[in-house]
Amino acid sequence: AQASLNLAKQHTNLNAFLHIDDQLTLEQAKHADALLAQGKGGPLTGIPIAHKDIFVTQKWKTTAASKMLEHYTSPFDATVVQRLNDAGAVSVGKLNCDEFAMGSGNENSAFGATRNPWDPESVPGGSSGGSAAAVAAGIVPATTGTDTGGSVRQPAALCGVSGIKPTYGTVSRFGMIAFGSSLDQAGPIARSANDLVDILDIMGGFDERDSTSLETCDGIANQPGRVREAYDTKQAHFSGQGSQPLKGLRIGVPKEYFNASLAPDVAQAVETALAQYESLGAVRVEISLPRTQLAIPSYYVIAPAEASSNLSRYDGVRYGLRAADYNNLEEMTSRTRAEGFGDEVKRRIMVGTYVLCHGYYDAYYLQAQRVRRMITDDFQQAFAEKCDVIMGPVTPSVAKKIGDNRDDPTADWLADVYTLGVSLAGLPAMSIPCGFGGQNATLPIGLQLIGNYFTEGQLLAVADRYQ
Ligand code: GLN
Repeated sequence: AQASLNLAKQHTNLNAFLHIDDQLTLEQAKHADALLAQGKGGPLTGIPIAHKDIFVTQKWKTTAASKMLEHYTSPFDATVVQRLNDAGAVSVGKLNCDEFAMGSGNENSAFGATRNPWDPESVPGGSSGGSAAAVAAGIVPATTGTDTGGSVRQPAALCGVSGIKPTYGTVSRFGMIAFGSSLDQAGPIARSANDLVDILDIMGGFDERDSTSLETCDGIANQPGRVREAYDTKQAHFSGQGSQPLKGLRIGVPKEYFNASLAPDVAQAVETALAQYESLGAVRVEISLPRTQLAIPSYYVIAPAEASSNLSRYDGVRYGLRAADYNNLEEMTSRTRAEGFGDEVKRRIMVGTYVLCHGYYDAYYLQAQRVRRMITDDFQQAFAEKCDVIMGPVTPSVAKKIGDNRDDPTADWLADVYTLGVSLAGLPAMSIPCGFGGQNATLPIGLQLIGNYFTEGQLLAVADRYQ
């Protein structure tokens, strides 16, 4: 933990951490030591980790990378934080992200962009950019992130590390600052699939404090150990198959993912990874997810709608910032929100309130929900008829330069095309590194693996075979 703290301080140029406090970390390390001394240690006891600053913490500040919460400290820990604490993981601090997790490049943080460790001029991806950068820079072996429309998978891909977004409902959202509640799901980032297994297992499990938390996953209790058990079973099966460990595994490759917006270097890296999977015995099948493009308009109606409702609580009364000058209650709220929220957050609130307005609700919100159902059906049909896992790119291109496209907010939205559908459907998906691209082939590229509901163990085992 001390070494991680030192590294975090050496790498302040990355701007990956928002809050570090030696004293708090050392207290946690002592707790880990005590667990070990009592023989109560587990796989994560004493392991340094760090949390995206979207999980509320009792000790460190929690800002969601927003001026609105700049001085906020929570009276309780998020379930994810508490479970990792209880397991003896040692938190090194809180990680930078896009404000309220809205963004794809970490440039929407009120406290400045995080830099990509592979190229400090490039974005690390977002919104969990600090989480991916901290692992890529070797500061900590694992971090927590959240994924509403790709925010674990996309930064993992752009920073050359591994990340998984589990099935919606398997990890508690209690104490995770809400963005789009029907989409938000926490997930870990680490160097390899193997490293993700235990942290995901400890983070996850039923939590009565989250109304959408699942008690069972396909008949299996949603409790720590679920992912580890499925993973070990799959690993044992694969290793029994000799030189063709993945014999018979059907990999669905959506033809719509290989369209004009996919950069040639990314397409090439994904193709090479698929060929390697075939050499391990997997069978490649072409599938169709015809509503792939429609995920963008559907998501960018539903997510802002939910965000506009979730963010109404920042009114200058209950949490965080209150504007200094105002003449009446209404002015206090409006000035607080004008001063506290950044441009992207304001944009989402305006889009969200618009699509929920009387008169527009049917035309936009209801339509978006219908499309969401069709996207889910497309995935279900592919899994029912054609394949065990789906593979494709995570992002259309490698990391962009910090500052590029800042005048066109929708450019980032379009780049979410391969990750949004999975979130709308609530499926588990992950990103693993599969090569390099960009001008000097120095920027990482991710391979996306998408599974059917509750197949996190299988996904991780399949990912592990490639790594
Ligand atoms: N880029 C997407 C957005 O801006 C996804 C963000 C996320 O998953 N938190 O909404």
